[in-house]
Amino acid sequence: MSFTLVSGGTVVSAVGRRLADVLIDGETIAAILEPGRAAALGVVPERTIDAAGKYVVPGGVDVHTHMALEVGGTVSSDDFESGTTAAAWGGVTTIVDFVTQTQGRDVRDTLAARHAEAAGECAIDYGFHQVLGGVDGAALEAMDHLVEHEGITSFKMFMAYPGVVYSDDGQILQAMQRASRSGAMVMMHAENGIAIDALVAQSLARGETDPMYHSLTRPPELEAEATYRAIQLSKVAGDVPLYIVHMSASEALEQVAAAQHAGLNVFAETCPQYLFLSLEEQLMQSGFEGSKWVCSTPLRSQHDHHQSDLWRGLRMNELAVVSTDHCPFCMKDQKELGMGDFSAIPNGIGGVEHRMELIYQGVVAGEITLERWVETCSTTPARMFGLDTKGVIEPGADADILVWDPNAKTKIGVNDKHHMNMDYSAYEGFEIDGAVDTVLSRGTVVVENNTFTGRKGHGKYIKRGLSTYLH
Ligand SMILES: [Zn+2]
Repeated sequence: MSFTLVSGGTVVSAVGRRLADVLIDGETIAAILEPGRAAALGVVPERTIDAAGKYVVPGGVDVHTHMALEVGGTVSSDDFESGTTAAAWGGVTTIVDFVTQTQGRDVRDTLAARHAEAAGECAIDYGFHQVLGGVDGAALEAMDHLVEHEGITSFKMFMAYPGVVYSDDGQILQAMQRASRSGAMVMMHAENGIAIDALVAQSLARGETDPMYHSLTRPPELEAEATYRAIQLSKVAGDVPLYIVHMSASEALEQVAAAQHAGLNVFAETCPQYLFLSLEEQLMQSGFEGSKWVCSTPLRSQHDHHQSDLWRGLRMNELAVVSTDHCPFCMKDQKELGMGDFSAIPNGIGGVEHRMELIYQGVVAGEITLERWVETCSTTPARMFGLDTKGVIEPGADADILVWDPNAKTKIGVNDKHHMNMDYSAYEGFEIDGAVDTVLSRGTVVVENNTFTGRKGHGKYIKRGLSTYLH
């Protein structure tokens, strides 16, 4: 046996905090002990990590990332190695990325191809959701196979992007019915893409080509309408668990809250970009600068209280999870594809490294509690998506641990803290009152003393079970 002891820290869970030592046996948490108790028991750890004055929290779980994703003629700029390494730098120890099936393609073939891309490349553990971009009979049948045999228990569809990965209401309903029978989760990109495409064409015809029109052609009402429609379809399909991704608009949040009050199995996530960034401060920056923040759903106006409503939704559990929707592109040769035409800008923001940092700043600012930080960034995403050994510091759980230093500071920026494969930072200049100190992935130290000590290939594919948030 090889013991590691994380000693002297404050262990924080979703429900409380206490001074305790965490004893790790190999890859697994063996015990939570009173401070100093390990020595009294005669345990001689091979190594001791001093966490005095620091928080010891379960490693971050980011259930929405897009490594090496093909988008609009280019590929998101982090591959599985660079993206999971950046995640580790940010205190994240598990990601759930996506497999994308499109019209006419075999779901199992797309899964095999995605496994081949990720295998041996990841620095931390990873799982997959399956995107259904072309729901047909074969795709519906494959859903059950994935749940039973492949550890994929969540299926994402898009009400946006007609002609690319769009599903119509009949396709969505059928996939929901199938998921309802197996207990799988349906994830939804909820924006009315048919109406958005008409607005985009009108805007371009008027000569409106700047990045800010990306947001102005995707109004909050079209996020709210699609959210409402997805909820109604999920109800018709037998109250299948529905998870709305990357919520950005107050009006959409109202729909989720109403569904929850009606007792439906409806959940939602938001992302740091919607809590901290806005149309006016970022997307409307002069020239082509705004393209850095083109993502969908879009950044919203700071004058319409979306940000404060999202923070309130996080406190109230109307929003259960914070993910990043990490989908990085460089300005050079990538975002630049949309110069003179905002609709050609690759959609996405990189942030997998900064979620724990940014949401912790929400704790400092008094928006949420320390426990709620752990809950929304680690514990609930693990439970929501059937990662049974993740998201908690408990005997038997994987020894995925973030030691967080509340007395250190982090400055985010390309010449400061920045390990993602991007030539800019969406959070350039942001200062965080706290810092990632030490990160363990299944008992192995992967970040310490401002050094990445992990390696690609350490991360394993995790077969997920059904959501335990409902049962
Ligand atoms: Zn996404």
